[in-house]
Amino acid sequence: MNEYQHILLAVDFSERCDYVAEKAKSLAYKYQSKLSIIHVLDNIPMPDTNYGTVIELNDDSGYDLLEVEKAKLKQLGGYLGVSVDQQRLVWGLPKQEIIVFANEQQADLIVLGSHGRHGLALLLGSTVNAVLHHAMCDVMAVRLPTL
Ligand code: AMP
Repeated sequence: MNEYQHILLAVDFSERCDYVAEKAKSLAYKYQSKLSIIHVLDNIPMPDTNYGTVIELNDDSGYDLLEVEKAKLKQLGGYLGVSVDQQRLVWGLPKQEIIVFANEQQADLIVLGSHGRHGLALLLGSTVNAVLHHAMCDVMAVRLPTL
């Protein structure tokens, strides 16, 4: 039996998130696991949108900032060979939506960066800390090299 059957990669599109993506890619290759990606929209305004709203990747919203986020996710998904239905773009709190998607997909490993946009000053970023405490599966915090 493969050790990990379904890996979830959480990306914030911060500097060096490619490093985390490469790690998830090589783990998925090593274990021959399914790979999914999540990006939680917490950096653009989404008026009149409830937390937890999943954004359809193939619709054109006409909202430029959102289309940029969609394009980044689809580009990374294409590079990693992840089908569009395994790419989640959702409006909300990263720590919450990562757990929701991981549970929904029955992921058995969540891969995140040790820190990202929020957590440079912390030993472990705020998101990864919360995910570690609430995940039902293994969590890998990829130590990001300092620049
Ligand atoms: P932070 O808590 O911001 O230091 O981020 C730690 C890690 O959590 C990042 O390297 C990402 O892997 C993940 N993460 C943070 N924010 C998001 C987000 N908006 N969407 C998806 N993953 C995120």
